[in-house]
Amino acid sequence: MDQVTVEEAGRIKRELLGVGDRVKHQGRKAVPLQSTKSPTESHHRVYRFRFYPTPEQEAQLNQTFGACRWVYNEGLGLRVKAWEQYRVSVGFAETCRALTGWKRSPRTSWLREVSAPVLQQALRHLDGAFSRFFKGSGKYPKPKSKRRSRDAAVYVRTAFRWVEDPERPGTARVSLAKQSAPLDVRWSRALPAGELPVRLTVTRDRAGRFFLSVLVEERIARLPEVFLPGGTSPKAVGLDLGLASLVTLDDGEKLAHPRLLRKYEKKLAGLQRELHRKERGSKNREKVRERIARLYALIGDVRRDLLDQFTTRLVRENQMLVVEDLPIGNLLRPAVGKGRRRKAQLSQAIADAGWSELLRQLKYKCEWYGRTLVIVDRFFPSTRRCSACHTKGPRLDVSVREWTCTACGVLHDRDVNAAVNLRDEGMRLYWLVAMRTPPGSVAPSVIRASELGDLHLAA
Ligand SMILES: [Zn+2]
Repeated sequence: MDQVTVEEAGRIKRELLGVGDRVKHQGRKAVPLQSTKSPTESHHRVYRFRFYPTPEQEAQLNQTFGACRWVYNEGLGLRVKAWEQYRVSVGFAETCRALTGWKRSPRTSWLREVSAPVLQQALRHLDGAFSRFFKGSGKYPKPKSKRRSRDAAVYVRTAFRWVEDPERPGTARVSLAKQSAPLDVRWSRALPAGELPVRLTVTRDRAGRFFLSVLVEERIARLPEVFLPGGTSPKAVGLDLGLASLVTLDDGEKLAHPRLLRKYEKKLAGLQRELHRKERGSKNREKVRERIARLYALIGDVRRDLLDQFTTRLVRENQMLVVEDLPIGNLLRPAVGKGRRRKAQLSQAIADAGWSELLRQLKYKCEWYGRTLVIVDRFFPSTRRCSACHTKGPRLDVSVREWTCTACGVLHDRDVNAAVNLRDEGMRLYWLVAMRTPPGSVAPSVIRASELGDLHLAA
């Protein structure tokens, strides 16, 4: 089928897809919100706080989460149908106009009980998922299910009220649209004073805990650059993430898995076994599933706090940080198998989650403080290569902690050797990029080997 004409597309949208015509705004033209600060100096920063909703607030939020999911799925259905049946593409603005129609329809009039800008954000989110798919950086958007997807609702400035508490600087009275009482937020840290948040995100994790994520635009001073003693080379550090230690640095420092994590991991493995014994669809199975979810939430918290201190120190002390790219395949592989194999996969899944958290923190901290994060291609043989003579050895089993290079005889600690290789490869990539950067301009905050094309292959 060919692409239809503009007039025909308009008719299809109006008559068959329920997308209303664009409303003509009278008077003043819409002007996008503009920040008064220079964009190079301010960064978005998210502060997350726990809050305890009243029963009414919880019920209202439940309804909001459900409505966001429904609108997301309906928007997805509309876009898919428009294209598959009529070869018409429907964008964000049109899904918003369709939303107006859904709210008027008697069958879905309950949508009116949920704040309109919050529902629009769900469609914005869907649009983002499509953009990532078209750019090739994401999968085709899937419908959100109550079971699998996270409960979340995004409140832009028009959907919440924020009044700073003069008694307690850095905290505020915050009320959400369609709610009368302010939220009972535990302000575990102070927010920058005098800042109206850009947006709020309300989430409920699988353990049933409510969180308020506050996005603020903040001025963050870049740190002075750090160079190697006597030279002009940036001080660099290579990070290897593994199962034996959480992170190993090229100077031999190791960040151990916290004891608590090991304990939780064991407990998790036990619960996973229990889950597989329970009958599918049974109440007991659901209970075990909930306990697993709570444990995952705890593990996430412990790891986030631990990595937060660690990454802050690393970013302060180094100009350049080098890591290996996240092997996404591992993250998506379902945990199947029996006994030892399943346990190994579980540890791998937990290590992968640590990896993505580490990458996430390093990315934003490098951007804030004027550092460079180099992400080395995951096909780079960081473990097998001898860091002393660069001879590529045979594949090493996970159990091998130390090995001797057959070419030069150097004894290597598996993880330290990998970290050194990463640091050196990162430095090479950094110079390749630096040589192409015009003089006087700043090095990018993230260099990703897989985005350099053939450039990085020319050794
Ligand atoms: Zn060697």
